[in-house]
Amino acid sequence: MRPHAQSSSEWGRLVTCRGLAIRPGRLPIGRRLPTCPTLLLLCCLPAAAQKVDIGVFSLFRPIELRVSPVSNTVLVTVGDQRIVLEGHQVFTIRLAQLSSAVHVSSRDGSATDFRLSIPGKIDRKFNGTLAIRPGDHKLIAVVTMDLEIAVASVVAAEMPVRAPIEALKAQAVATRSYFAVSPPRHDEYTFCDTTHCQFLREPARGTTAHRAAQETRNLLLEYAGKPFPAQYSAVCGGRTRSLEGEGEPITGYPYYSVPCDYCRRHSPGVVQGHQLGLCQSGAIGMAASGATFRAILDRYYPGTHLQPSN
Ligand SMILES: [Zn+2]
Ligand SMILES: [Zn+2]
Repeated sequence: MRPHAQSSSEWGRLVTCRGLAIRPGRLPIGRRLPTCPTLLLLCCLPAAAQKVDIGVFSLFRPIELRVSPVSNTVLVTVGDQRIVLEGHQVFTIRLAQLSSAVHVSSRDGSATDFRLSIPGKIDRKFNGTLAIRPGDHKLIAVVTMDLEIAVASVVAAEMPVRAPIEALKAQAVATRSYFAVSPPRHDEYTFCDTTHCQFLREPARGTTAHRAAQETRNLLLEYAGKPFPAQYSAVCGGRTRSLEGEGEPITGYPYYSVPCDYCRRHSPGVVQGHQLGLCQSGAIGMAASGATFRAILDRYYPGTHLQPSN
């Protein structure tokens, strides 16, 4: 969902409909501190921030990308060249001239705010580090961002900005669970920024989406003792769907067919998305009637529990 989306036609254009194919592979989450007992001191420190790799702008198959700073200076590294950008300076990357990867970060190599654009097509701010490398007739841009920033960015994109906070928190938990334990869904990066994986907009500091991520920080949905990549969809039409008896492979959570009062009253029979798990429309309706995010998650993911990721 766009943050400003209110009308049913907007819902229609941005339906969440992820495929169910799951491929084996490396886990998407980056570093964790060692848990070796001899490193007792290290183990007492908070776990390192989890990271997620997201391929951006891939639908445009860009042959030219532009990077510029947002507020602080930005370091661009190409081979052994180091270029510092400040103010309104812009660094242009063209496929035809690129032989090695370009990296974008703060001056010490850590995450930073930067602006990335395809001239005439799209212009977006991100927080993280960026790698751009030549691909097959296109540039491949991958942003590595903090998991919680990615969660807030998806909540901002998937839910209306004025949705009640408890609905946003339910969405945040589903989104985090999806990022945390879904196997990589692309060859060149772990997730994309479209509804194929999870629709993602600019990092959403200071918004209710950001608050929803913070207030559910680290919480994952688990089933049978294990977190699972929670599916969700926009409008269920009055009842969600179970995977059982449908011939679809059940590798973790089977999902259950549960009634959705809000859709029954407001959009009976109207379906947008795959009807698995959280119904975004129904979650907003439940939260507006006073339900907590835990009650919303209990409704749409029966038999599951919440557990901290660390
Ligand atoms: Zn994808
Ligand atoms: Zn529904």
